[in-house]
This record gives sequence, C-alpha cells and structure tokens, in this order.
Amino acid sequence: AAMGRLDGKVALISGGARGQGATEAKLFVREGAKVVFGDILDEAGKQVETEIRATGGEATYVHLDVTNEDSWRAAVDTAVRLYGKLNILVNNAGIYIRKRIEETTEDDLDQIMAVNVKGVFLGTKHALPAMRRAGGGSIINISSTAGLVGNPHGSPAYTATKGAVRLFTKATAVQHARDNIRCNSVHPGPIETDMLKEAAGGLEEAYRQRVP
Ligand code: NAD
Repeated sequence: AAMGRLDGKVALISGGARGQGATEAKLFVREGAKVVFGDILDEAGKQVETEIRATGGEATYVHLDVTNEDSWRAAVDTAVRLYGKLNILVNNAGIYIRKRIEETTEDDLDQIMAVNVKGVFLGTKHALPAMRRAGGGSIINISSTAGLVGNPHGSPAYTATKGAVRLFTKATAVQHARDNIRCNSVHPGPIETDMLKEAAGGLEEAYRQRVP
C-alpha cells in the first residue's frame, strides 16, 4: 500500500458518527491510522464503522458522551487496549444553539458548555497520560471562525464555547510541548453538515456567500 501520512498512528476522534467527524475518521484511516471514534449516535456510528471496515481499514466505534468523564476514560482505554497506544486526539464533537442572548436559558448554556468546553477539557485530560506514554502526540480541537470573531447572525453561547476552545488549546500547547505533545485548534467557516442547518436557520445562502 502507498505510504500514508498517519501510518502506524492511533487516533481517537469524538463526534464521529456523522458530519466532519465521520469524514475525519475515514480520512485518517485512508492515511494509514487505526481509529477509535465515538459519539452518542450509536446507530450512525456503527454504520460508519461498517463503511470503513468494508474498505479494509481499521476503525472501531465506541459509545462516547464527551460530557461524561467515565465515558472518556473508557474510550482512551479502548484505543490503547485494541491498538496498543494513543498518538492523536481530535476533539470534534460539538453542538450549536441558534438563540440570541436573551432567549438562551440557563439549561441551554449549561448544555452547550458541557459538550463544547467540558468535553474538550475531559478528552484532553484523559488523552494526555496515554500520549505521554506513547512518547508524544497531537491534539486537534475543532473550534470555529466563531471562536475568532463575533457574527451578527451567530449564537453568542456557541461563540463563547468556541472562544474557550481556542484559549484552552493554547494553554494545552504551552504546558505540554515539553511532553512532545502538540495542540492546535482548527477554525472552519461554514461546512454543510447537519449542524449548519441548525446554525444557519434558513440563512444557508448568506453563509455560503461568505465563503471566498
Ligand atoms: P454535526 O452536528 O454533523 O456533528 C457533530 C457530532 O457531534 C454529531 O455526530 C453529534 O452526535 C456529536 N455529539 C453531540 N453531542 C455529543 C456528545 N455529548 N458526545 C459525543 N458526541 C456528541 O456537525 P459538524 O459540522 O460535523 O461539527 C463538527 C465540529 O465542527 C463541531 O465541533 C462544530 O462546532 C464544528 N464546526 C462546524 C461548522 C459548520 O459549519 N458545520 C463550522 C465550524 C466548526
């Protein structure tokens, strides 16, 4: 087989049952990685696992609720038990809530903070020791352009979570460079996934127009 950029690497990806996470899982396998990916949408996740295995790739779906610390422990353990180590974590799982500040309830805020911020924190917390044992690694956090600038049509709660991911990424990077662990955030513009339907709420064309 052709050399892949991720030959010999083991990756864990959150939110991999659909959308960008599923695409990441497929791409990583194509580049030679062994992938454990988790989500709360178990049926869709199993389907993605079947698709990847049909191509001869090595990937395993696990139930992973990123807001739950035990769930993260189990996912990291699965990667190490099945594939021997952990080199890469992609904190991809995320949710959106299309509400302005005054419409946002306390429960809404707690929920989006739990998935988008606590989820990234806990994933990082449990990946770090495994990566250190592997001699280093790479953590990739999926933020958003919403984590860089305000958007007149955007969700302030979502913006707050993605801004938090940006600076948590920097904290991780500066504190764990000495462990040979890199940490980067990715800031996509609009991507046509199920999330964009919720985010754009009929303004899909306006979002599309903003993409150069
Ligand atoms: P998506 O809604 O298709 O995928 C998100 C996935 O996260 C889903 O499979 C969902 O089930 C999963 N998820 C939600 N809560 C979870 C939980 N508690 N535990 C585990 N998994 C959970 O949307 P997407 O566009 O593929 O989103 C992927 C990432 O990209 C998200 O972090 C999102 O904020 C970010 N992003 C999206 C866009 C966009 O325009 N679509 C732009 C910038 C950034």
